[in-house]
Amino acid sequence: MANAVAVSTRPQSEKAFQRARQVLVGGVNSPVRAFGGVGGTPVFVQRAEGAYVYDVDGNRYIDLVGSWGPAILGHGHPDVVAAVQKAATTGLSFGAPSTIETELAELILSALPGHDRLRFVSTGTEAVMSAIRVARGATNRSLILKFAGNYHGHADGLLVAAGSGAITHGVPSSAGVPAEVASQTLVARYNDLSEVEGIFQVRGDSIAAVVVEPIAGNMGYVAPVAGFLEGLRRLCTQHGTVLIFDEVMTGFRVAWGGAQRRFNIQPDLTCLAKVIGGGLPVGAYCGPARLMDMVSPSGPVYQAGTLSGNPVCMAAGLTTLKLCSASGFYESLETKSCWLAQELMAAGKHAGVPLVADSVGGMLGIFFADQPVGDFDDACATDGPYFARFFHSMLDRGIWLPPSRFEAWFLSAAHTEEHLQRIVDAATDSLRTMA
Ligand code: PMP
Repeated sequence: MANAVAVSTRPQSEKAFQRARQVLVGGVNSPVRAFGGVGGTPVFVQRAEGAYVYDVDGNRYIDLVGSWGPAILGHGHPDVVAAVQKAATTGLSFGAPSTIETELAELILSALPGHDRLRFVSTGTEAVMSAIRVARGATNRSLILKFAGNYHGHADGLLVAAGSGAITHGVPSSAGVPAEVASQTLVARYNDLSEVEGIFQVRGDSIAAVVVEPIAGNMGYVAPVAGFLEGLRRLCTQHGTVLIFDEVMTGFRVAWGGAQRRFNIQPDLTCLAKVIGGGLPVGAYCGPARLMDMVSPSGPVYQAGTLSGNPVCMAAGLTTLKLCSASGFYESLETKSCWLAQELMAAGKHAGVPLVADSVGGMLGIFFADQPVGDFDDACATDGPYFARFFHSMLDRGIWLPPSRFEAWFLSAAHTEEHLQRIVDAATDSLRTMA
């Protein structure tokens, strides 16, 4: 069935999942894909094109996941595919420098004021882990400060939850993370500047880095309140702490150059991934020469990668970013996501369902709540079981949402007004029938 209105059952996905579970942990290669947050069987994808993903049963869905962010042009943009094919014919990996790495670095840095140098890695996890190492190397301090509900990849020191009091040290949020490592991470409440001020008063001169998602997308979509990021900038400057913006999700997604350009706040280091690889594995961290020249081989902070700067990945990233740099690109995405967020709120209101929605650039999110969500506690207090039902109802109506209420949604240039209307129609129908 090639229709976004109704989807048939998914026996092939069931079969594929049973088979995968025998050999892949939990049947998947990244936990959220297993549908733990919404229940049911993960849908196996056969292919994706433009605004659509197609499952192994032949159902078609309008995609609001976009591979969790990279697919900003839609899936399989012909120019990106052609660039990848061309690059592949001249070699899949060199393990030696090639000029396309410089070209992509130049383009990225041209969008980030105050950033002179960049290092490519392969994932967002590596980017943040490495930026923190630079901050520690530069400051000779150990502590870092992160925010509850922000996700920065799966490095040990970042899988940490708040300890019993705000100024106490963090505790592991994953088995296998040593308590000693977690104790080097302090955890504060997102959007709570006064808490951060209190922490800085006590420990400010021992904090190497503050790492933050400048617009949060990993506790659902949560925007920073006015003054929050500015306050972090001020405190970091006062205390000689390195401010790291984790723009793995927001970079080149919410604006050309990302959230820092949008809010006009300059972090000391920026972490990127997702869009800059156009769907292939690329991450990067970058900043001013005074910090980045700490990294090997220029300086004493070690970091390396066999496939870093891979030519095929660079070709995908470069072509993607060139297309994103077209005038009006982000304005058009923003118009669409803003319209969608407003229409979803209207649908909630019409159905008498508490629903808040918000958006920026090509990123948006909803919560089943009657108040805007500002931090992780708020996000956890939203209606999870209702989201799970909504998710499945949308899936059955041919709309592919992230299978968790704690994830942002992503729009692409390939989404048309008609797609958006179909999403709104499916949501209206879902909310009505679920009432
Ligand atoms: N930081 C942020 C803000 C992210 O959203 C993610 C992934 N969703 C990461 C870091 C980790 O990136 P990766 O999955 O590429 O390691």
